[in-house]
Amino acid sequence: MHLQTVAGMSAGLAAGRYSSLELTRALLERVTRLQPELNAFISIEAEAALAAAAAADARRAAGERNPLLGVPIAHKDIFCATGSRTSCGSKMLANFVSPYDATVVAKLRTAGVVSLGKTNMDEFAMGSSNETSHFGPVRNPWDLTRVPGGSSGGSAAAVAARLVPAATATDTGGSIRQPAALCGVTGLKPTYGRVSRYGMIAFASSLDQGGIITTTAEDAALLLGAMAGFDPQDSTSVELPVPDYAASLDQPLAGLKIGLLKEFFEQGLDPAIETQIRAALQLLQQQGALLREVSLPNLPLSVPTYYVVAPAECSSNLARFDGVRYGHRCENPRDLTDLYKRSRGEGFGTEVKRRIMTGTYVLSAGYYDAYYLKAQRVRQLIADDFRRAFTEVDVLIGPTTPTVAFELGSKSEDPVTMYLNDIYTIGANLAGLPAMSIPCGFASSLPAGLQIIGPHFSEQKLLNVAHRYQRETDWHTRVPERYR
Ligand code: GLN
Repeated sequence: MHLQTVAGMSAGLAAGRYSSLELTRALLERVTRLQPELNAFISIEAEAALAAAAAADARRAAGERNPLLGVPIAHKDIFCATGSRTSCGSKMLANFVSPYDATVVAKLRTAGVVSLGKTNMDEFAMGSSNETSHFGPVRNPWDLTRVPGGSSGGSAAAVAARLVPAATATDTGGSIRQPAALCGVTGLKPTYGRVSRYGMIAFASSLDQGGIITTTAEDAALLLGAMAGFDPQDSTSVELPVPDYAASLDQPLAGLKIGLLKEFFEQGLDPAIETQIRAALQLLQQQGALLREVSLPNLPLSVPTYYVVAPAECSSNLARFDGVRYGHRCENPRDLTDLYKRSRGEGFGTEVKRRIMTGTYVLSAGYYDAYYLKAQRVRQLIADDFRRAFTEVDVLIGPTTPTVAFELGSKSEDPVTMYLNDIYTIGANLAGLPAMSIPCGFASSLPAGLQIIGPHFSEQKLLNVAHRYQRETDWHTRVPERYR
């Protein structure tokens, strides 16, 4: 049962082959049994899941036909969910039980989705390997000595090991696409503003975007349709109708103009990954797509730009964790300053502190112009590069990551090397663009990801390209042997 896609489970439930309760029980058994080796979850919520499954079965018995009704998934622990611990991977929020639902959680609840629990993640979504989590690292199902990527490492590993057919995730600089690539699954980061950020714990508000990790583009389309839409509670959510993504997935690729990002193939790309990307491009060409090289001259500046903008926003967003209202509070504070200092000192991990300090520095008087303002200008140049490229091509395609999944511990002492793992993903966040990563083969026996980036609100097009590719290939159906 666990090997099915969301669409498959949806069909199975509709045909009465099994109930949501049976499906949920079967998946919960795997989630619990495999937790010690994968550590993909922070909270397993069996009781709530079984109650939700029973409710979904009752709704179906009463005649409701929502395609997601009774389908089990998991939520990244960055999304607030009523009555659930929502830790964001941090000691700071290790005991925080949310009194409300994030909009994404509420919408999926309304659709009848059953949540099995909350997935592990880098602390406050800051990381590329899931090693900054207060709850310990997640292991890559393809090789348990390797990282799953981050920050949505728990969601990606859970889907790769088929503990759940889909899991929510968020992407500030690559946190959906990079772990999806390293775990051999499908990840979709929508356009900034497409999915509400309400109730999604903020890291860098101008970059954060909620999305989904699945095994197929078809499933991503189904889930995006349920998650997306205008939300008056998020002032940056965009008031545009949500297309029926799943309904128009199968458009032919003839005449599709694909831009090959020159800069992505230039530096540090593992030749074994490049081979897989070139093969994928050839396959798209055989389907009638037209390839041409495109250059985005300012793209190489995206990592340094991001590491000014993101820490600046995080230093401001994380100021709310002060030990006063909720979250970790130190023992016996002497006075208010001591309360702030020790609560934050004890509650945050090293990477989060590094970002807060960098962010405070680049925003401080005297350095603001030199760093923050300059980074904002370069961000604009990068966005302009993309805009120009999309006057010539429909989508941009390249690798998602420069390397395959690396060994646990191999980069954790060197933040800059770790930051460079996001070299291909950050550009889309700086420009607010939608982007996907889909499995495109193996390099040294580990999954490689193909990245597809499109203009604002072109999710339909990205999903269509991904779906067409997945119709011709079976990389997305591969499951590590231990989890079949
Ligand atoms: N790895 C990047 C970082 O550490 C991106 C994280 C993310 O997208 N949340 O900031």
